[in-house]
Amino acid sequence: EAAINRIAAGEVVERPASAVKELVENALDAGARRIDIAIADGGKTLIRVADDGCGITPDQLPLALSRHATSKIDGSDLLDIHSFGFRGEALPSLGAVGRLSITSRAGGHDAAQITVSGGQIGPVKPAALTRGTVVELRDLFYATPARLKFLRTDRAEMQAITDTVKRLAMAEPFVGFILRDVTEKGGEGRVTFRADPETGDLFDALHGRLATVLGAEFAENSLKINAEREGFMLTGYAALPTYSRGSAVAQFLFVNGRPVRDKLLIGALKGAYFDFLSRDRHPAAALFIECDPHLVDVNVHPAKSEVRFRDPGIVRGLIVSALRHALAESGH
Ligand code: ADP
Ligand code: MG
Repeated sequence: EAAINRIAAGEVVERPASAVKELVENALDAGARRIDIAIADGGKTLIRVADDGCGITPDQLPLALSRHATSKIDGSDLLDIHSFGFRGEALPSLGAVGRLSITSRAGGHDAAQITVSGGQIGPVKPAALTRGTVVELRDLFYATPARLKFLRTDRAEMQAITDTVKRLAMAEPFVGFILRDVTEKGGEGRVTFRADPETGDLFDALHGRLATVLGAEFAENSLKINAEREGFMLTGYAALPTYSRGSAVAQFLFVNGRPVRDKLLIGALKGAYFDFLSRDRHPAAALFIECDPHLVDVNVHPAKSEVRFRDPGIVRGLIVSALRHALAESGH
């Protein structure tokens, strides 16, 4: 069982940033309004994600660590299982590749803690926590030195974590995020990214979050996008050509709330700016596509964040026409 878990774990946890993504997504799923992420040594020795979400009751703690146990689908709809893919994989996978502890307090219950190390699940013990959940992953890949060797420098892994957190923060402007580097022992660590919860309507919140994540300059130089085509909604902001970048770092794309990196979408974005930008420049944008889950498969691979649309042509057409229209209107 432990070996099977370790093999499956490699699919979900490639590097510290993928662990951070899974833990932050769990916190978001739990309805967290504030998420505090602490990292030491590029995530190799410590990843700690604390949230103020709904928590896990003591009797549910062991279940959260068992493979394919998820509280998020009831299994009656095969298509739902497919569209949520890889459900109930993250925590068991993390428990197989590192030393994992979960401390949690659900409303009306006492706080409790469970640990798992090398796939061995320990007993549920009483703990102290006022609310929410704290998941701590120590010594990632300690049992698989071969994988540990594939990790990059602490600095590069921290950069990948920061990028992941920024993308998640972009997707959830009403949630507050703090990312701290606690490599140096003692104190609160060094805050490397901070986004306070945004307020107002969705466009206000997005605009505010954009300013935090990409800078005030981007927010001031971007066009509001709001379009719809055959069941696909496109909202967000696209930057004026003058605010393009030399790389794709400022492209934030989301499908049904989840950050994705997808060739089709990136290509559509490039296509939209074709007449406005020289070939070596990359447009900056934060775009959200919403559609019926049946029209898209967001789990082609658990770690790769690719998507597969049932009808890619509609999505491409929507992005290209909405952005071209906005750019042409802006007179640039
Ligand atoms: P999934 O997210 O696909 O359900 P996970 O392995 O990531 O699978 O988590 C297993 C279960 O543990 C979740 O379904 C949820 O019930 C519980 N859980 C995990 N993280 C949290 C959290 N931060 N707050 C509340 N519940 C959580
Ligand atoms: Mg999960």
